[in-house]
Amino acid sequence: MIHFFQAIYDWMIGFFGVGNFIKIINSGDYSSFLTYDGFTSIIGPLFPIVLVIEILVALVLRKFNAIDYKISFFSYVLNAFIGRFISIAAIIFCIGLFEKYAIFKTTFTWYWFIYGYIVWEFAHFIYHYLGHKVRLFWCLHSTHHAPQTMNLSVSYAHFFLEGTYADIIRTTVCILLGVNPPMLFVIMFIDGFYGGFIHIGEHLMKDGKLGFLYKYILTPSHHRVHHAKNPLYMDTNFCNLLNIWDRIFGTYQPEEKGLAIEYGITREMKPNSFLDSYFGEFACLLKDVYKAPGLKNKFLYIFMPPGWSHTGDHKTASVTRTEFMESQRQFNQNEFETLEKEAVV
Ligand SMILES: [Zn+2]
Ligand SMILES: [Zn+2]
Repeated sequence: MIHFFQAIYDWMIGFFGVGNFIKIINSGDYSSFLTYDGFTSIIGPLFPIVLVIEILVALVLRKFNAIDYKISFFSYVLNAFIGRFISIAAIIFCIGLFEKYAIFKTTFTWYWFIYGYIVWEFAHFIYHYLGHKVRLFWCLHSTHHAPQTMNLSVSYAHFFLEGTYADIIRTTVCILLGVNPPMLFVIMFIDGFYGGFIHIGEHLMKDGKLGFLYKYILTPSHHRVHHAKNPLYMDTNFCNLLNIWDRIFGTYQPEEKGLAIEYGITREMKPNSFLDSYFGEFACLLKDVYKAPGLKNKFLYIFMPPGWSHTGDHKTASVTRTEFMESQRQFNQNEFETLEKEAVV
């Protein structure tokens, strides 16, 4: 029985990441809070603690629905065991492999930090864009888009190989473009923290626009748009903290007044099913590949954007979005014509 409680205790310490914090408190040497390890021992637990606060607030407001957390919870459990270790190994492997091919070397200074962050966002954009536009990668990324509500636990909802695939692309791009490896870890740390924060739910932060910052950085509101399946919102806002690359590549989309966000993915899903959110897209892809006539079509299903069809009847995000904008334009024109006619009469 004691073992059981010990195991629960260890897991809690691990989940909240408070192990280092407790160690420093016990040692009595508070000055070590000023070191890098000390600093992370304070910052690290903030995120899981805020998640628990979010759940508590939802409970108090009677808006708590355990089902909103189910997909994220099971993904978290599975990833905690396998995903994390492969990811760290992949990062170290990529640094070792590509550092000698870097176009130039940068140092650990504030201006190279800014450079590094812009490069990191570029690398993140590439990984995330491919995650939405290449069907095989969408199979990995779609787990993150499966939850039908937004809350902090969604940042734990990932297919266990996605972190590895993301880190291979992001590390490789950053290292090749000369980002200093210790700097890369600092950036990854900030990005991980901020990337969790932008999933904050509506009942904890209503509009999520962060005031004047809305104009300059990517806010929870922008990321809510990214998680929406409304035609206008699909496949937009791929960045994480700085949204320069969304603006440059034309994927920037602010939240429209009066257009309520519908979270989730467009295909019919078994509501709140963990298995469907984890493996559903793989099953659909296998079915399409199996049915497709000829080797070329089979190949194209794997690498073309989700919704691509060998019959030419594509249901991709860009087709859906263009059709929606066209119907809006038609609607506005009709409205205008009726108004004009009424004015003449
Ligand atoms: Zn995404
Ligand atoms: Zn997200």
